[in-house]
Amino acid sequence: MKIMYVYADNAATTCVSPVAAEAMIPCFTKVYGNPSTFHSVGQKAAEYLENARDTVAKLLNADAKEIYFTASGSEADNQAIRSAAFLGGKKGKRHIISTQFEHHAVLHTLDKLKKEGFEVTLLDVHKKGIVTPEEIASAIREDTCLVTIMFANNEIGTLQPISEIGALCQERGVLFHTDAVQAVGHVPVDVKAIQIDMLSLSGHKFHGPKGVGALYVRQGIPLINLIEGGQQERGKRAGTENVPGIVGMAAALEESVAHLDENIKKVTALREKLIIGLEGIPHSCLNGDRNQRVPGTVNFCFEGIEGESLLLLLDEKGVAASSGSACTSGSLDPSHVLLALGLPHEIAHGSLRLSIGEYNTEAEIDHIIQVVPGVVQRLRDMSPVWDKLEKGEQAHLI
Ligand SMILES: *Cc1c(COP(=O)(O)O)cnc(C)c1O
Repeated sequence: MKIMYVYADNAATTCVSPVAAEAMIPCFTKVYGNPSTFHSVGQKAAEYLENARDTVAKLLNADAKEIYFTASGSEADNQAIRSAAFLGGKKGKRHIISTQFEHHAVLHTLDKLKKEGFEVTLLDVHKKGIVTPEEIASAIREDTCLVTIMFANNEIGTLQPISEIGALCQERGVLFHTDAVQAVGHVPVDVKAIQIDMLSLSGHKFHGPKGVGALYVRQGIPLINLIEGGQQERGKRAGTENVPGIVGMAAALEESVAHLDENIKKVTALREKLIIGLEGIPHSCLNGDRNQRVPGTVNFCFEGIEGESLLLLLDEKGVAASSGSACTSGSLDPSHVLLALGLPHEIAHGSLRLSIGEYNTEAEIDHIIQVVPGVVQRLRDMSPVWDKLEKGEQAHLI
């Protein structure tokens, strides 16, 4: 009998949807011109590119002139933050507000800016993984040039109070950027309704291809270039455009948004089943607020075990999951996101992120629920730490 293999790592990346894959094919075979050339093959490619821009703009409630294509969500984050810092720096405003549990594309850019003379306040996200607008309000100073706060966290899935933050920043005259890579295509995102100045997204997190992202920038905010060269992207991002990737991303976004309500309903129901199925495991905890979260991301900690060994055994049992963010794997440090929630190192080490999507089925969730408890037990049986906990030589933390 073939064992079931469940892909539950959609926060790391997703499969390309058949619709998106189909949309890309003509860009490889027929419409392969360089959009900056004047002949008809190039002009046809330019048309595909601009149609994709119109699509992405419309789906975010933005104007096409406000969309800049990039080669990743990380690049969009870098460009947004660097642009706001440059603008601020010119006016002597060198203070930036963010949170402790941002993606490394944001945190590492902020680290670099600190070395360049900026001051960065990283706000607490508390036990539930949610920043409070009140704390942002009190952190804003005369010299604050940017508030950058993620829409949804990639490890634990919690949604941040983005509308309140948008309104607050608007009122205080501070630029607001949001890394919406885990939100776009998964929850409604309307840049006008939420008063967002800059927003990053990435194609491969909503069933588009990898290596393509976009940055929404409200009209009137000047961008700085990270990549110098030709005049692509209205002079703000040089390099021949990845037309197939951009077209695939736009098609994937269109499809996700068209099915948003039904996907939210379906994935939320699967997630609830998953949480209920796993929360009975003794000495475990669900990380992040129980309800204020994206539909598909679930993160648990299991006391007494190592997340890495859990992942290996789960893979053998037909479950592809992750311990935190894909970007931190390979390092032995516990996740900065889980530490930001105030979890002790020992607990943060035993984490498991299961991120599901509309391609998952109920039978697959049943499979996960069936294998996880056994694998956790097996690891605990071999764990010296668990042994001490069981003998009462060490106190349980959860
Ligand atoms: C995946 C991710 C990114 C990076 O996007 P890439 O396109 O992979 O560079 C940034 N922020 C968050 C929240 C993400 O989940």
